[in-house]
Amino acid sequence: MLSWTVRRTRLPLLSLRCLDCRSESATTGEGRFRVNANGKLLDVWLLVRCVSCDRTSKLTVHERTPVRSVDPARLDGFHTNDPDLVAATLLDPLLARRNRFALDWRDAWRLDTPPARPDVTWPVQVEVTFADPVPVRPDRLIAEHLGLTRSEVLHRVKSDVSLRRPTSTGFTFLVMGEAAVHG
Ligand SMILES: [Zn+2]
Repeated sequence: MLSWTVRRTRLPLLSLRCLDCRSESATTGEGRFRVNANGKLLDVWLLVRCVSCDRTSKLTVHERTPVRSVDPARLDGFHTNDPDLVAATLLDPLLARRNRFALDWRDAWRLDTPPARPDVTWPVQVEVTFADPVPVRPDRLIAEHLGLTRSEVLHRVKSDVSLRRPTSTGFTFLVMGEAAVHG
């Protein structure tokens, strides 16, 4: 069985409309939180800026959350702009839902595969795992990586997942040899 891994190469951009210039793309840049601890309540925002005009927007991470309910290590991460916490916060689907944006994964991920072997025997089974929750369409991923057309993928690839539906959950598929399909 071959193993393919989808992983991010950087943080994705955000599809988020700018209130000033109407651009629809924003970035976390280096990644910065703003923290406001007011007595026992905590507000935390993740700052993002418009890629066109640099206008800064605040995405709500915590809103009037009791300080005591927040893990101290996490709180420390907000104060120090911990890059892992920035990534985890941005990729948390709850943040996108709450702040009404979508992630734009274009050019922000890659597929790691083992080196091609000349002695490949068909059929080939491939397991795809996700190091990061990048939504990919299996048929496109397979077609692109194996140099097949989409219709060849439909004929030669068997999988228990829908190949046309974007997923960021691991799956496996089987590629039949060309002869097995046409012969
Ligand atoms: Zn703007």
